[in-house]
Amino acid sequence: SPNAEIICVGTELLLGEILNTNSQFLGQELARLGIPHYYQTVVGDNLVRLQQAIAIACQRSSLIIFTGGLGPTPDDLTTDAIATFFQAPLVERPEIIADIQQKFAHSPHALSANNRKQALLPQGADILPNETGSAPGLIWEPRPGLTLLIFPGVPSEMQDMWCKTVVPYLKKQGWGDAQIYSRVLRFFGIPESNLAEKVAPVFDLIDPTVAPYAIDGEARLRISTRAASEAEAAAIIAPIEQQIRQQCGVDCYGADADTLASVVGQRLLERQETIAVAESCTGGGIGQRLTAIPGSSGYFVGSLVAYANNIKVDLLGVKSKTLDEAGSVSAAVAEQMAEGVRSQFGSAWGLSTTGIAGPGGGTPEKPVGLVYVGLAGPQGPPQSWSYQINALPGRDWIRKISTSRALDV
Ligand code: ATP
Ligand code: MG
Repeated sequence: SPNAEIICVGTELLLGEILNTNSQFLGQELARLGIPHYYQTVVGDNLVRLQQAIAIACQRSSLIIFTGGLGPTPDDLTTDAIATFFQAPLVERPEIIADIQQKFAHSPHALSANNRKQALLPQGADILPNETGSAPGLIWEPRPGLTLLIFPGVPSEMQDMWCKTVVPYLKKQGWGDAQIYSRVLRFFGIPESNLAEKVAPVFDLIDPTVAPYAIDGEARLRISTRAASEAEAAAIIAPIEQQIRQQCGVDCYGADADTLASVVGQRLLERQETIAVAESCTGGGIGQRLTAIPGSSGYFVGSLVAYANNIKVDLLGVKSKTLDEAGSVSAAVAEQMAEGVRSQFGSAWGLSTTGIAGPGGGTPEKPVGLVYVGLAGPQGPPQSWSYQINALPGRDWIRKISTSRALDV
């Protein structure tokens, strides 16, 4: 069956000077089109190594996509390398010279000999028009069953050419008639390894496939299938999603575009209730996440960053005695903050955080990363939860995970 491979050319990619966003874009596009794609190579501006990469790629892939090294300068070698490898003569294409001349018509610079180099294409290759840059791309079948797509490195040019010319071309060739559809289940509060253990048998499935990954302190499961339509994909994915959700309960808070904050928002809207927040160590992070959701004015009243002890006392009614006896990072203070902001802001719910974000300020009893979340609601006394967040990644991490912990509560 047909399969694609990507070769990105440029020493700047190897040196890490620029991020390889072309392979990210192409990877997403190939997945969207359902074109299988198993390898990506990054190779510097070096003729021999580029030819080695081509030699390997054409043994295992039937569609090879190149980006970079098409420009007018001597370090741009991609066309040379490909033509030499397939032993095709380079022929000058007058229409390219005319096109470049037209693009340069308003430029004070004369056409350079290097620009003429861009008009040399392997015999038999077709031009992929480049509306914005000077270097055209190529579509070439150097031998039956092997298609090469060759793009300039500049992402905007490559993407424009891909969308306007290549996607219609691939569809006409019968590539990409089925797409890959994915659903991502999102988990918070359960480590990726525990989650993977809990649902282990699903990783043996062949259709749909299920893969775990972790990002931003969350664990995720991606359920994917190749299907001709969204409805067909949903029929394959839904039963497995249901099975996983049944197994994992509240650890699974949402799917796809859901976030902890958006789910909190949905629940509050359903209940027609409001929330206010008193934040110490999260410094406004909870308010930031909640207000990032459109329509949050329907349930979010406000957030008070109560950092100093006297603000906790004066504006939230936290008791000085509690601060003295239990310390500002304590269950009792978290509860009083939550209750205080609830009554001051007149909301149904009051949520609070207090913790030690570090890097200094930790003690053996209260180490860096210790965070309390307080919650006061319409029923019963306020409650609190304590967490020991991994302190090694640093202050930003502790603040971010504290924010997520609070929303999760
Ligand atoms: P040009 O006509 O601009 O010379 P080119 O085909 O020679 O195009 P390169 O010289 O390889 O392309 O790259 C031009 C610029 O495009 C690079 O400096 C870089 O900013 C960007 N670029 C190249 N390859 C990639 C990539 N894989 N991902 C993201 N950006 C890239
Ligand atoms: Mg270049």
